[in-house]
Amino acid sequence: MRPLLNRAASNLVKQLSHNLLPSSCSFCQSPLQLSAGALCHNCVAELPRLTTQCQRCAVPLVSDTLCANCQQKPPTYRRCIVAFHYQTPVDNIILRFKNDPYTTEIKQLSAALAERISTTYRLAQRPCPKTIIPLPLHWLKMTKRGFNQSLIISNLLADYLRREHQTAIEIRSDICRRIIKGQDQHLLSAKKRLTSIKKAFTAEVQSLDGLSVAVVDDVVTTGATANSVAKVLLKAGVAQVDIWSIARTSWNNTTV
Ligand SMILES: [Zn+2]
Ligand SMILES: [Zn+2]
Repeated sequence: MRPLLNRAASNLVKQLSHNLLPSSCSFCQSPLQLSAGALCHNCVAELPRLTTQCQRCAVPLVSDTLCANCQQKPPTYRRCIVAFHYQTPVDNIILRFKNDPYTTEIKQLSAALAERISTTYRLAQRPCPKTIIPLPLHWLKMTKRGFNQSLIISNLLADYLRREHQTAIEIRSDICRRIIKGQDQHLLSAKKRLTSIKKAFTAEVQSLDGLSVAVVDDVVTTGATANSVAKVLLKAGVAQVDIWSIARTSWNNTTV
C-alpha cells in the first residue's frame, strides 16, 4: 500500500512542478530555462502580434490610421491598446484560459501587452493611467466560471508594469458592475450584440471626477462592450477611458 501511495504522491509532485515550473516549451517542447514562462523565446517571437491598426479602436489595418467606423462615429473611449491578433495560437490560449485560470501562457501574453502599453504612452507622450478596471462579469457568469479572467490579466499587467517600468497601478474592481447578462455573445449577430451590450454596465462609485482609467479585457471584438463601459464611466465623472486588451479580432471575425 505504502509504495503505491508514494508513487501517487511522487506523480502528483511531478505534475505540479511541471505546471508551476514547466521544463519544456508548451508549443515546440524545446527545453526552457528556469526563468522563462511556458513558451520558449522563439515561440513567443512567432506569436501573431498586431502591428498596424486603427489608432482609436485597434482594428487591424494595413497602416496606422483611423478606420472608417472611427472616422464616422468615434468611440467613447480614447484609445484601445492591443498586443495580438485574435488568431492561432493566441485564440486557443485565451479560450483555454477562460476555463482554466492556471493557463501558464497567459503570463507571457500579458507581459507582451504590458510592453505595448508602456511603449504606446511613451510615444504619445501621455501619462499611463494609474487606475485599471477589470471588465466585470455578470454575477451569474462569475458564479459559473469561478473567476474573472480580466482580473487575472489586470494583476499580471500591474505586476509587470510595477516591476519593469516602475509604474504603480491600482486595480479597482468596485467601480463598475455588469447588470445585464445577455445571451452568450458568440451566439448573437453583431447588430444584436450591440443592442444587448448597450445597457449592460453601471458605475457603482460616483466620486470619479477627473480620473483617467484603463478597462482591461481579454478580447475586443466589435468594440461595443468597450464603448458601453466607457460611456458609463464617463457619465460617472471619469475624465478618460482607455481599453487594454490581449487580442483583437478583424472586421470579418464576429465569432467571439
Ligand atoms: Zn517553443
Ligand atoms: Zn477604428
